[in-house]
Amino acid sequence: TETLLKVENLKKYFPIKKGIAVQRYVGDLKAVDGVSFEIRRGETLGLVGESGCGKSTIGRVILRLLEPSKGKVIFEGKVLNELSHEEMRQMRSQMQMIFQDSYASLNPRMRVGDIIAEPILIQGVSSRAEREKRVCKILDVVGLSPYHGARYPHEFSGGQRQRIGIARALALNPKLIICDEPVSALDLSIQAQLINLLEDLQKEYHLTYLFIAHDLSVVKHISDRVAVMYLGKIAELANSEELYKNPQHPYTIALLSAIPVPDPTVKKDRIILKGDVPSPVNPPSGCRFHTRCPKVQSICKEQDPNFRDIGNDHFVACHLV
Ligand code: SF4
Ligand code: MG
Repeated sequence: TETLLKVENLKKYFPIKKGIAVQRYVGDLKAVDGVSFEIRRGETLGLVGESGCGKSTIGRVILRLLEPSKGKVIFEGKVLNELSHEEMRQMRSQMQMIFQDSYASLNPRMRVGDIIAEPILIQGVSSRAEREKRVCKILDVVGLSPYHGARYPHEFSGGQRQRIGIARALALNPKLIICDEPVSALDLSIQAQLINLLEDLQKEYHLTYLFIAHDLSVVKHISDRVAVMYLGKIAELANSEELYKNPQHPYTIALLSAIPVPDPTVKKDRIILKGDVPSPVNPPSGCRFHTRCPKVQSICKEQDPNFRDIGNDHFVACHLV
């Protein structure tokens, strides 16, 4: 399969300043610290990790809402970080984002129809009738009605607002949609409906998704491959079936142990990780997971394990594997 987007040794550091009268630089928050992966055309890549692990930052750097500190984002062979503003503006229509908080991401003073029409207008569709036709079509595609276009975001439920966010993302016929925890705030039944909708849209419009979540159970059914992140790095990446059946990294194994199994005769022991996630300002030496790893060895404190291909399209960063 063909690569749509590639991320190469991506780093995003945020400088931290302290002091009241005089601000002084005290270090960097290493949100993303050397991450490489590809997203293949037509697939859904799940990106999973606890809050603060850097997964949303990766989404924002890909869309160039944030500039990377180091590394590259390559979309269809073009290095995005080298494009001019004008080139990037054209590129942006091909990459859209759906946010977790639909309330904050939809302008409360705009009618839904105008929210969806705005990107179409910016891309140069000047005929009002043509824009209205497209808006009606998109509302229908996401399971809303044309008359919803005349209403305001607060008149909708959380699940419906997420449909509006999806409609806005679809308005420009994007190739890639970054879904940043789009269902995390919703009830389970609504989550399932939206995930089904995203899957249908993917088939119909040949979309590629980067699906960000904090929980492995959410991405299980929608993802073709899954990457597990811990403290700014990817610990493990494999196709979904392989990852859920044959996890190799102790962190993935611990996360999977927390997912309840539907079959009550299968006994599963939950692995409770000790301690909290360390600060991304001063990440642990060697393997970043060593302060919490149930399998830690002495080498783990000194050497950062390489992210290695162990065959069968499966990558792991662990000295024991
Ligand atoms: Fe655990 Fe060591 Fe593997 Fe890190 S490298 S996950 S500390 S066993
Ligand atoms: Mg987030």
